[in-house]
This record gives sequence, structure tokens and C-alpha cells, in this order.
Amino acid sequence: MRAYRMTATGTARLLELPPPPIGPDQVRLRVLAAGICHSDLHVLDAPTAMWEPPFTLGHEICGTVTDLGAGTDPGLLGRQVVVHAPYGCGRCRRCASGATNDCDRRRELPAGLGLGVDGGMADEIAVDAARLVDADGLDPAEAAALTDAGLTSYRAVAGSMDLLGDPGAVAVVVGVGGLGHLAVGVLRALTGARVVAVDTRAAALDLARECGAHAVCGPAEVASVVDVVSDGRGADVVLDFVGAQATLDGAGPLLRTAGELVVVGGAGGVLPVSKPGPLPSGARLRLPFWGSRDELVATVGLAREGRIRSRTTTYPLSDVARALDDLRAGRVLGRAVLVPDRAGPDPATGQRADHPPSTTSSDPVV
Ligand SMILES: [Zn+2]
Ligand SMILES: [Zn+2]
Repeated sequence: MRAYRMTATGTARLLELPPPPIGPDQVRLRVLAAGICHSDLHVLDAPTAMWEPPFTLGHEICGTVTDLGAGTDPGLLGRQVVVHAPYGCGRCRRCASGATNDCDRRRELPAGLGLGVDGGMADEIAVDAARLVDADGLDPAEAAALTDAGLTSYRAVAGSMDLLGDPGAVAVVVGVGGLGHLAVGVLRALTGARVVAVDTRAAALDLARECGAHAVCGPAEVASVVDVVSDGRGADVVLDFVGAQATLDGAGPLLRTAGELVVVGGAGGVLPVSKPGPLPSGARLRLPFWGSRDELVATVGLAREGRIRSRTTTYPLSDVARALDDLRAGRVLGRAVLVPDRAGPDPATGQRADHPPSTTSSDPVV
């Protein structure tokens, strides 16, 4: 099988490997779709290794169960599932409750499957059966995107529900990419808040409207838009899915007194925290990381009910380098998702049977 692996710091390659062995309580999946995240770019571009290579990238995984390890439920065979991928110690109270994302040993462990241990940018993967969440009936690419882009957005919104329940509450989503567009959907599904979406790209703003944003604008207009939408009070919650210096600098002035800034994106910006400082009096600051297994079940449930929908741009696994380049350049609308192209290259010609090089393999769903 093929797998896109970090082989050394700053280097990743699509390699041919034997199928992964499965241990007790594990299953083997035939991968149907694997999402690509800005975290993958951070891992690839880091000047020093975040985790020891080699490992296969890919932490948003949808697949079909093809093989069962000892002790697993025979009913899983043939099911379409998604994978709860945050990695934890498995022993602390948070791990025991399924919140491996908030494991007490978070700082010292790999972040998840595909982030320090083998992930899903491959034809097959072996995973613990306890990580599986049923996703039968969902489009595999859309389902894959639910496991981080959807789940992280769900967690980001769910943690602010007390503020977003206020009558007339306003939420600002900064950055309408793979996560941000799902955050708009989750806000509309779970809250009555007025949603303002901010992006520099016109197509992303169109996507935000399609996902249910009440108002969309560029960064230069957001202060005046929030002023109008909130009757001058400011935003109850700002969800920053970028985390760049400009977006963090811009967030504080948007917030209502005792509002909350939720920093999800990791683009390297730094926010000074002081009293007084850039955040208003009474403000809360939260840095959510991914989400729990129960929250993934809830996120998949919202998708099943048609209350949220992932927008994806799919690429064949063999085009992973181009997909990463497109993400790096901001050319992807919604979530970029790899779909294994089974045939692989013909060793004689180097050409793929199912995706000839002459045709474009990008398939915008939106
Ligand atoms: Zn991610
Ligand atoms: Zn733990």
C-alpha cells in the first residue's frame, strides 16, 4: 500500500509499504478519505522535528473496516467509520472519558494519529476499535473533514455556549477555511447567535453565507459590521481560526465586555495578556485543542441530521504534494481531502490508470 510519510525533518514522501499489522482490539481500515489540515503544513515546515520521523501523516480519516483484530466486534466488518484521532496516555481520567485531546500528558505525547504516529494519508491504516465512530451513509470526504475541522469547530463553539445563549449574542468567525466554514454551521445549528464571518477571500465569504453567516466582510470592515450587528455592545465571542498577528490584534477591540476570545488557529501570532490590555475587562481567553470522542459523535450526528455540512475539495492520494501546495497558497475552498486512487502508477509507464495526468484531478464540491 502507499502512505505519505514524514521521512526526515522537512521531508515527506509517498512510499510503498506492506499493509499495517493489526493488534488485539484493533481493526484495519481501507481508507476512503483523509483530510489535509494546516497542522500538516506546520509539521512539514517545522525547522526542527515536532515528532520523531518516520510516521504517516493524516489525522482526518474515514474508511471501511476490512479486517478485525482479536477481541473486536464482528459487527464492525464492512462498516464505514470515522476515526477519533487525538492521542492520549490512555490512563488519565480525561483519556478514560474519551477526552484524549485534553490528556494530562498532552505536552509529551504525539498529538494524534498522523501527528507523531501513523495516520491516514495511506491506502490502509490499523486503528484501535475504540476510536471508531460510525459514519455509514455520509459522503466519505465530508465525513473525514468532520473529525478535526468539524470536531475542533464543535469544541470551540460548545465551550462558549453560556455566552452564546444571551439574547442578541454575536459570534465572529475569523478565517473561513476548512474549520471556519464548519464553525459557522455549528454556530447556526447550536445557537441563536448572530454570526459574522471574516475572510480576505471573496469565495470564502460566499461559502460563509452559504453555511449560514448573517453578515460577511473583510478584516477592514469587521469592526463597523460588529458594531451594527451587536447594537454597539461588541461581540460576545470571537473565534480566531487563523491565529496570525493581525487577527489576534484585531480580536480584542471586537469583544464585548466580559466576552470571550477563542484562539483555534496557530499561525504564529502573539497576544499580550495584561490588565489593562488588549482584551476588555472581564474577558475570557480559551485555546481549545480538537475534541473528545463524545463530541465527535455529536458532530457526526449534526451532519447526519443535515444541520452542518463539510465543503470539500478532493485530490487523489497520488497528488498529495499538489494538494499541500494549494492549501499553503490559500487556493482551497473548504477542506482539502485526499481520496486514495487505487490503481496507482503503472510501473512500466509511470501513468495512473484511473487519474491520467492530462486531466485535472481537483474536484471542487462547492
Ligand atoms: Zn488538524
Ligand atoms: Zn491521558
